[in-house]
Amino acid sequence: MSDDPRRRIPRTDALLEHPEVQALDADPALVKSVIAATQQRARVGALAPEEVLGEVLAELRRPGSLRPVLNATGVVVHTNLGRAPLSQAATRAMAEAAGYVDVELDLDTGQRSSDRGRGTIEALLHATPGAEDALVVNNGAAGLLLTTAALCGAGETIISRGELVEIGAGFRLPELIESTAVRLYEIGATNRTHPADYRAAAQRDGARAILKVHPSNFRVEGFTASVDVPELRQIADEFGLYLIVDLGSGLLTHDATIPTEPDIHEALEQGADVVIASGDKLLGGPQAGILLGKKEVIAKLKKHPLHRAVRYDKIRHAGLEATVRHRTPVQEYLHADSASLRARAESIAGEVGACVVPHDGRVGGGGAPGVALPGWAVELPAACAPLLRKRGVLPRTHEGACLVDLRCIPAAEDATLTQHISAALLQLNAE
Ligand SMILES: *Cc1c(COP(=O)(O)O)cnc(C)c1O
Repeated sequence: MSDDPRRRIPRTDALLEHPEVQALDADPALVKSVIAATQQRARVGALAPEEVLGEVLAELRRPGSLRPVLNATGVVVHTNLGRAPLSQAATRAMAEAAGYVDVELDLDTGQRSSDRGRGTIEALLHATPGAEDALVVNNGAAGLLLTTAALCGAGETIISRGELVEIGAGFRLPELIESTAVRLYEIGATNRTHPADYRAAAQRDGARAILKVHPSNFRVEGFTASVDVPELRQIADEFGLYLIVDLGSGLLTHDATIPTEPDIHEALEQGADVVIASGDKLLGGPQAGILLGKKEVIAKLKKHPLHRAVRYDKIRHAGLEATVRHRTPVQEYLHADSASLRARAESIAGEVGACVVPHDGRVGGGGAPGVALPGWAVELPAACAPLLRKRGVLPRTHEGACLVDLRCIPAAEDATLTQHISAALLQLNAE
């Protein structure tokens, strides 16, 4: 029995007291469960006894379960990769805000201050002069929930049947709104809604607001009609209703690369009382629901009890403020120059012995559907895709090929990316 390898598995006490384990400052319950699980793997022969300590340390040293990914899909706001990658300025600001910060304190007087998020609001108002005031909440959905609840109470908001949007993963805006006391009054048809439909609905006793939702992730073409914001403003004024505009994407001002994408500045100019947008789509920041509009309306939102439940945290406030004040990776990738994308792709293709093909990037994240962003990709055999994914590179698989698009990859990562592709090709050839 003495040569049973299981007898060589390090004992729990020895592992717990090992100086390298101790130095990690890990949660004691976590340490015990990692040790037990690793010992068990050794007992069933999945691990050599000599490997137990190393495995325990490796598991405890992992910073978290999320793994960084090189986005080689060409999709700028990639929902499954966490939407917008943050700028260095935002990342730094968030790290600095991690400790104690004067988020609700006036350091001059030593008094409590109710100016939470003041810097973010100032930056947003500076970037969108058409807005009188702003409020930031947890995400776009929370913004919609708070706005409709605060402005409609137990009344109705009018919405076109062409704008009853599912934003993804089964989340439907109408169901979200109706989870509060607010009732939706649907008007028009899927493809056509007219001013007369809004006017008829606006006369109802319970009508409080008109909600216009930008159908951000689909397009209706053909025999269509909808009512634009300036005309909705007129109707809202005739009947004393609020005009809420949910834009989704969070483009602050017009961008010629995506000419059909509506922007916050324009919606406010055209008379929206409040505009709702996400922070982590085209704005390029951390997850947020950004509400910009009239002072009186924003004040109502701030006072509503739901506001506390969707409150924005200090770390993201820091990140969002820095995002608005600096150039973002999203802007950079959206406007990446096709010729330099081609040169980078050709350089990588030359090193790994592959070809370069034209490849269109996309805005993604439910923004500017159908808009192509012309660029280039390194073309690899389709079987490379799973091998690259295991290495933390997400390529696009399309028509029997694995395409590596450099649009959303910082040029500083090109060498690392080349190594991953070479390794994947080597592995493929060895199989
Ligand atoms: C994305 C989107 C939302 C939801 O925003 P989140 O920040 O994901 O909660 C709401 N409305 C529209 C039109 C959107 O595109």
